[in-house]
Amino acid sequence: MKNRSDASDPLDVLQKKLAGFGEFSLRKTYYPELQQSLEDLRESEAFLKNIVDNIPAMVFVKDAVELRYVAFNKAGEELLGYSREELLGKNDRDLFPEEQAAFFTGKDREVLARGDLLEIPEETIKTRSGDDRILRVRKIPLFDVEGKARYLLGIAEDITDRKRLEEQLLQSQKMEAIGQLAGGVAHDFNNILMVIMGYGNMLKMDLGPDFPHKEKLEHIIKASERAAQLTRSLLTFSRKQVMNPQPANLNDVVKQVRHFLERIIGEDIQLKSVLAPEELSVVVDSGQIEQVMVNLATNARDAMPKGGILTLETGETEVDEPFIQANGFGKPGRYALISVSDTGTGMDEKTRLRIFEPFFTTKEVGRGTGLGMAIVYGIVKQHHGFVNVYSEPGIGTTFRIYLPISTGEFAGNGEGVVPEPTKGGSESILVAEDDAGVRKLVLEVLTGFGYTVLLAENGLEAVEKFRANRDSIKLILMDIIMPRMNGKEAYREIRLIDPDVKILYTSGYTLDTIQSRDVIDEGAELVMKPIQPLELLRKVRELLDRQ
Ligand code: ADP
Ligand code: MG
Repeated sequence: MKNRSDASDPLDVLQKKLAGFGEFSLRKTYYPELQQSLEDLRESEAFLKNIVDNIPAMVFVKDAVELRYVAFNKAGEELLGYSREELLGKNDRDLFPEEQAAFFTGKDREVLARGDLLEIPEETIKTRSGDDRILRVRKIPLFDVEGKARYLLGIAEDITDRKRLEEQLLQSQKMEAIGQLAGGVAHDFNNILMVIMGYGNMLKMDLGPDFPHKEKLEHIIKASERAAQLTRSLLTFSRKQVMNPQPANLNDVVKQVRHFLERIIGEDIQLKSVLAPEELSVVVDSGQIEQVMVNLATNARDAMPKGGILTLETGETEVDEPFIQANGFGKPGRYALISVSDTGTGMDEKTRLRIFEPFFTTKEVGRGTGLGMAIVYGIVKQHHGFVNVYSEPGIGTTFRIYLPISTGEFAGNGEGVVPEPTKGGSESILVAEDDAGVRKLVLEVLTGFGYTVLLAENGLEAVEKFRANRDSIKLILMDIIMPRMNGKEAYREIRLIDPDVKILYTSGYTLDTIQSRDVIDEGAELVMKPIQPLELLRKVRELLDRQ
């Protein structure tokens, strides 16, 4: 700090100012003391500047009259992308969009008028690169000796990333809650539908082809099938749909569905596909992945009423910590990626945040069901993947679907089902089921095909009935989730009575849920609800015939 040029040496400035007070030389008379004080002053100034610059928050000072920036720290420069030279002397109107500047200035005036600290929990500021950042700001008036507010001190913390994570968490909690509700309703509704469809079909079989009210009956069956379709959508969304995962090359799955997509999107839309050259090994339910592609293509078509381009791409990507940080979602690992892009209308942020909710639609009544994206979400989640959407209004939308790359061998249960003529029998079967409607239906189906049926309404009753009839009962058909004693507990008790007893579980939940609830025993058989009478009969016969 020595050897400063004379023009800027404060000592010289002072000397000039004192020139009118007569002939004496400041430099000679007081030189050593003044020199020392100035050094001290500079040092403490540098020290303070160092502190302010290194505070990990944006710190700035504005003058109280024109609200121009008079000081700015390093963190502030970095946050906003402007250098100090560009900032000093400017006011907010010179730097930020009109609406933001007006907000900042309003708050400044408020602080200065109140003469007290003001906390602004959230405000948005546009940086030089055009990004919006969210800040938490405190503004404090600085007073002069007379108690007048001369400056305004601001301290701003960048809370953008935290906000993003919070929103992500809220969003996933919301989806979880909706899923639970939808799944619960769908599960019980499934039981009811099973009764309607089951009896409807039995009636149809009994009444033969020339029954006078046949058409009415067919309406009932049709309507219940449509309802079952809706229930299946909800179960898919809430991840309670039965899955049949098989090892596959994702490229093949996409190739298979491509022709079908062409028909969905029509002639005005061009379909392009860019498939990864390498094999993408995944373990997926191909039917469900096709469903995902169909739903995405349908939406893309709706977003491009005047035509456009739909692009399918596949690839492989690594999801690592930086990716998760930047995107606010994901689990580390290698993923196969399908991206589906359109050149359509796009959507705004408000819409984007809600598209995965079941029944959310922006389409007119009768056109949209609002279930397409909910199904996509459910399927992808069930595959332990994730889906992300990027959209710009007026430009288009890109969906990216990440599915875990499979590494190990797959222990599949890909048995091909060979349909056989339905056979009945005369054995005794114990049926434990808590839903009265389902119980009655199963009873009628089984007795209708010659079996003797004993009924139990819960696990405890099942154990008692088995104890009393242990010699005649050849098979137990048991709902897994029941009050008083669940299926597994009941089975454990029953095995103590007869270790070789055959068991067929029924459930409205997926294998996934059941396994996590640790209910199903190894080797135990399971039929999913809604049970189709013929499928039930086939499974029952198969188990009874098994040695
Ligand atoms: P639906 O298609 O029946 O409205 P979806 O669940 O499939 O229900 O989609 C929900 C909403 O998401 C749509 O109504 C639309 O607003 C928006 N959306 C989905 N995909 C796109 C897309 N490719 N382009 C623009 N908006 C889309
Ligand atoms: Mg749709």
